[in-house]
Amino acid sequence: MHVNVKQDWDLHCHSQFSDGKLDCPALFELAQEREISHLVLTDHDTAAGYRASIENNWVPDNLTLHPGAELSSVWKGRAIHVVALGIDVYSEGWLEVERQYVIRREKRFERLLFVLRRAGFELDEENIRDIAAPGPPARPHIAAHLVETKQVKSSAHAFKKWLGRGCIGDVKSQWPELEETVQTIISLGGMAVIAHPHRYNLTWTKCKEMLDDFNAAGGQGIEASCVGMDPNMRKFLVEQATARDMYISGGSDFHSPNTSWLKLGYFPQWPRQVKLAKDWMLARSQ
Ligand code: AMP
Ligand code: MN
Ligand code: MN
Ligand code: MN
Repeated sequence: MHVNVKQDWDLHCHSQFSDGKLDCPALFELAQEREISHLVLTDHDTAAGYRASIENNWVPDNLTLHPGAELSSVWKGRAIHVVALGIDVYSEGWLEVERQYVIRREKRFERLLFVLRRAGFELDEENIRDIAAPGPPARPHIAAHLVETKQVKSSAHAFKKWLGRGCIGDVKSQWPELEETVQTIISLGGMAVIAHPHRYNLTWTKCKEMLDDFNAAGGQGIEASCVGMDPNMRKFLVEQATARDMYISGGSDFHSPNTSWLKLGYFPQWPRQVKLAKDWMLARSQ
């Protein structure tokens, strides 16, 4: 059974600053409708949305916005994501991290344009950049362009056939190694949380190995309250976290109001009697 419960915290969501569909004010409006009191904005490789929201006073009074990001990383050659909770998003160190990710994404975009054009697609670079703005282009923006220009029938299809793991668009990107990503997060005062461990197509043995490496590098949190995660996997992850004295985190991984099965603020209930990343976040911000 996959039971998603409405929570008053969401520690994983996206805005237009990465591949989310909503701009920050619309995202906060939705959070208010859902009676969410705490939100961590975890755009891919950037916290520009957090800074813009504070600077422009977009955050409503009854919502607490916490700084975060979801960092692209690599472990044993596999692309994985690490959620950075509570990093100092104004520090020069972090701003440099963001700049490096933009450079990596630009390089990858160039390569993606090349391989996809070679495969026969017609790609309007400026249109893709417009879709991606204000951030750099990522694969979902290319997928959206392909759908818009009727070259593929859906974004899911674009990923399955062209952009996803093992396809021609799965071009090698120079993401930092897991250990480096974790070190970066810790040096910026944040907590490193391994994002959606069920989505890497790992056996439980491999998953354990990844958690060992992650924890040895200083990683402290595991997302175990995720939409669409098999309950057996959740149980396994909670056990793994408890055995290592790690925190449990989670969230909706909200990207778009058009995804019917994935809603902001809805995800499986936090397990009882565990250390929760949200409590760490709250203590840190007080
Ligand atoms: P990128 O940041 O360019 O590596 O793109 C990764 C993003 O693509 C993820 O954060 C998801 O939002 C999206 N994504 C990954 N796999 C799929 C898929 N199979 N279908 C639709 N979107 C996907
Ligand atoms: Mn995404
Ligand atoms: Mn992710
Ligand atoms: Mn995400």
